Amino acid sequence: MIAAALDELGHALPGRVSTDPEDLTRNSRDQGPVLEPALPSAVIRVRTVEDVQVVLRWASRHRVPVVSRGAGSGVSGGAHATQGCVVLSLELMNHILAINPDDETAVVEPGVINADLNTAVAEHGLMYAPDPASYRWSTIGGNVATNAGGLRCAKYGVTRDSVLALKVVLAGGTLISTGHSTFKGVAGYDLTALLTGSEGTLGVVVQVTVRLRYLPRDVRTLAAFFEDFPQAAAGVLAIGRARVQPSILELLDGRTLEALDGAHGSNLRGRGGSLLLVRTDGYGAAAEAAAIRSALLGLGAVVEEEGSAEAERLVDLRRHSRGDEVDDLFRVGEDVAIPKSRLVDYVEALESMAARYAVQLKVVAHAGDGNLHPTFWAERSEGPQAHARLDEALDESVRLALALGGTITGEHGVGQFKRRWLAWEQEPAVLELQARIKEVFDPLGILNPGKAIVA
Ligand SMILES: Cc1cc2nc3c(=O)[nH]c(=O)nc-3n(C[C@H](O)[C@H](O)[C@H](O)COP(=O)(O)OP(=O)(O)OC[C@H]3O[C@@H](n4cnc5c(N)ncnc54)[C@H](O)[C@@H]3O)c2cc1C
Repeated sequence: MIAAALDELGHALPGRVSTDPEDLTRNSRDQGPVLEPALPSAVIRVRTVEDVQVVLRWASRHRVPVVSRGAGSGVSGGAHATQGCVVLSLELMNHILAINPDDETAVVEPGVINADLNTAVAEHGLMYAPDPASYRWSTIGGNVATNAGGLRCAKYGVTRDSVLALKVVLAGGTLISTGHSTFKGVAGYDLTALLTGSEGTLGVVVQVTVRLRYLPRDVRTLAAFFEDFPQAAAGVLAIGRARVQPSILELLDGRTLEALDGAHGSNLRGRGGSLLLVRTDGYGAAAEAAAIRSALLGLGAVVEEEGSAEAERLVDLRRHSRGDEVDDLFRVGEDVAIPKSRLVDYVEALESMAARYAVQLKVVAHAGDGNLHPTFWAERSEGPQAHARLDEALDESVRLALALGGTITGEHGVGQFKRRWLAWEQEPAVLELQARIKEVFDPLGILNPGKAIVA
């Protein structure tokens, strides 16, 4: 039956529907752990808004689940294929439609790569601020669908703070426009905010109007090395208490420094046990860096201001700190966020958790936002026992984050993998309300089912 339906779609969209086995495999998952392996029935590469409408009308008629896909760089399983689905790839809708330098906005198709947008607007002295570490390959559509964060979010906010308007195709194929081209606008319920972070479960994002920021004239970068990880975490609080706003404030533990040295030939671990990477920007960058330096020196850090080439290399190394491995059931990257005041307690607890469950741990953090990415892993040669220990460590790390007033996911989204923790964070009435919102947008339940919410 699906074969006949795909034939029908193939006639409506000639050359867009692929059932090539390699293509299906390549597009069957993102970078997150896979709980229920599945292959899509087809990968559909749309080029226009009308193509997306054709696909969703077809999917509604035949009750076929649709998994939207940008670059597949997600790490929560949000873009994993599910039983009987088709993957709707937005990668070819990759045009920048307008750059409005005086309005400080841009209008883009969803498949535009984050870095490409930044390159294009830089010649106008502008930048698109939200910069996930994956910015060289993740798409603006995927960034919107996950409400992605990034390094510069410490100062400029997350994706939602830079999205002004959306065009979205709803489950039945209707095209809607939400939001406004202005920075301000409060007419009606804020559907733009609701759709941002909805992980492909409420509609398919086909156009995004973003707010741009000024490319800073001056940046200063400090590398502050501490003896150990909790001391470096204390440095984050010291910067906050000095009431200075860095644009980047990233925390890397000793295991992460060792891994980077091994992969990239750097010598970070030789310089200290933990690194706080700090950048200030704007006309006050030098004064702000000086204030931060003195706050950190007071904690015993070794603080060096990096020249521009070395500074770029350090920031680039931070972007690689997740490693190239794809997560699986023996290696899971976490994404909790906690109030900054609890950072030191949390990182100390993580270290003792890893020891108690006999699993390995490395941690990086968008520390300015209290957003931590502990990666736990266990020896796969030890089999199911190691897997069970890893799961317990993950559960405990999430439970503790919640107990400290935090959240199960700061920026990666719930996807498929974190659904088991959602009810730990949200009360039944909220879960039910979310399920009802989903029903309003997607009454047939065809948009990325089994993701993001507990329905
Ligand atoms: C090395 C590495 C570093 C990373 N660093 C960060 C980081 O610093 N901050 C951060 O937030 N994330 C980070 N991520 C995670 C990931 O890059 C982000 O979640 C990113 O926003 C996903 O974009 P994508 O284009 O790859 O989307 P995909 O992975 O393809 O999809 C992600 C989700 O969005 C949905 N989706 C995609 N496009 C659309 C669309 N047009 N309409 C509706 N739904 C859609 C999918 O169905 C899925 O649920 C990192 C990942 C890696 C591998």
